[in-house]
Amino acid sequence: MSDVTAPATPNTPEARRAGAILTIDLDAFKTNWRTCAAQTADGVETAAVVKAGGYGIGADRAAQALRDAGCKTFFVATIDEGIQLREALGIGPAIHIFNGLMDGAERDYPHHDLIPVLNSLGEVDAWRAFCTGVGEPLPCDLHIDTGMSRLGLPSDEMQKIIDNPDHLTHLKLDMILSHLTVSEITDHPNNAEQLAAFRDVLSHMPPARASFANSSAIFLGPEFHFDVTRPGVALYGVNPTPGQLNPMAQVVRLQAKILQVRTIDTPQTVGYGATHTAQGLERIATVALGYADGYSRDLSNAGLAYIGNHKAPVVGRVSMDLITLDVSTVPEDLCRVGMLVDMIGPNNPVDDVAKRAGTIGYEILTSLGSRFHRVYVGEET
Ligand SMILES: *Cc1c(COP(=O)(O)O)cnc(C)c1O
Repeated sequence: MSDVTAPATPNTPEARRAGAILTIDLDAFKTNWRTCAAQTADGVETAAVVKAGGYGIGADRAAQALRDAGCKTFFVATIDEGIQLREALGIGPAIHIFNGLMDGAERDYPHHDLIPVLNSLGEVDAWRAFCTGVGEPLPCDLHIDTGMSRLGLPSDEMQKIIDNPDHLTHLKLDMILSHLTVSEITDHPNNAEQLAAFRDVLSHMPPARASFANSSAIFLGPEFHFDVTRPGVALYGVNPTPGQLNPMAQVVRLQAKILQVRTIDTPQTVGYGATHTAQGLERIATVALGYADGYSRDLSNAGLAYIGNHKAPVVGRVSMDLITLDVSTVPEDLCRVGMLVDMIGPNNPVDDVAKRAGTIGYEILTSLGSRFHRVYVGEET
């Protein structure tokens, strides 16, 4: 356990008003990108995935920080995410759109300087027709399905392209990519099988950059790196190597303010549904955070908050705007109205919160709500 002192509320009007404060450490974020880059050889480019609002921390600020750190290539999921990101980044960095073409929206790509990831033969042909129409080969990526069965060209469509390379004329192929299904489990047979399938496809394709590795795959070894890696979740502090020490720095800290503290006695119950009954004298702190802020209701009677180094378990149901914590063992002077409690923090990082909620760090991060006072630190360095 790290030595954590209970932090004082930042002295700004927003912080004084706020029920909860989300602190985003952009230095840690940049450090994580460099940690990913350091895993790969010189000549391998490290891109960054900033879809879903930068996994909840804010896509614009996240991407700007990485651009300043030297990142040149970004991936988002939707065209609108791409349009917004182009506005935030200005001209220069490449922005690729995972979810591919949307019928009738082809024009938005060149207009905002975005690159579609083409996910089916239909999309390839539509892009080719569009490029032919505008009289210019426009950049695009080709996504090959090597086992995810989600997006990407399945093998029969891939075979059609191999049999008739004309499908790829009149367009400018930037990257060929594929996505792994279980890269976080190092010895899972899918990793080697997908790698072999990807290599086989590449051997039949015209020259283009290849991209295969998400966060965890970066840690699977150099054969998974190819030309461009696509880390997402690791940048935000989630452990890409489950079961081993987390090589990533924590990026988010979520602190909720204590609104009330009360002492209750048996047989009184706590919260909706009366799911917790005091076992003797209990001190209960009510904090200003709820499932509407992305603190999962699955953490009812299961979550664990920290006040400094002191544990404060969630008791009773998580409600929309409030959570009740058992602070019986926390010194009273650390547990007063207006003080802050770590709901995600040094002692309870995203991965731990996810485990308690029965989900993954990805979901905890991307569920983070919009009511917090957001504080970005570490921008100047
Ligand atoms: C989200 C996503 C990534 C990033 O994955 P992480 O596991 O978050 O590193 C990479 N590639 C594709 C196709 C994705 O959808």
